Amino acid sequence: MTRILSLACIILISSLFIQCSDDNETGIHPDLQDYFDRFAFEGAQRGLVIDYEALNITADIKNIIDASVLGECINQEGNRRIIVDEDKWDNFNDADREFLIFHELGHCALGRGHTDLVNPDGTCVSLMHSTLEVCDRNYNDDTRADLLDELFGF
Ligand SMILES: [Zn+2]
Repeated sequence: MTRILSLACIILISSLFIQCSDDNETGIHPDLQDYFDRFAFEGAQRGLVIDYEALNITADIKNIIDASVLGECINQEGNRRIIVDEDKWDNFNDADREFLIFHELGHCALGRGHTDLVNPDGTCVSLMHSTLEVCDRNYNDDTRADLLDELFGF
């Protein structure tokens, strides 16, 4: 029992340490860069300049303790940090990954909150829905252009 407790302590301490060292990290995790580039491209297509450096946006892949959370945008006095959960990221396909990064950038780059509006057929009106319980995400090649218009405010 004591051994388990001390192991738990070591894990807790090391995760606190990682949490602390986070604050000094800069840049966008290389595995996320392609999705950030796509978001900037889609913004540019709609006349929006998305400059991650000017917006102070950094991003990383980490273990998020709360199992219901896929990712988060943390905005601390204009320093914006996106974290996506490592396990979920590893199991996501390309469309899921794009959805997740675009959703978090909706918060961090576009300043959007959540909207849980639902189309008559049960699909989500926006990529900015709060949970999957409220609507059917239905993010695919057919719906992508309309959902991105909605995301960028067009
Ligand atoms: Zn969100």
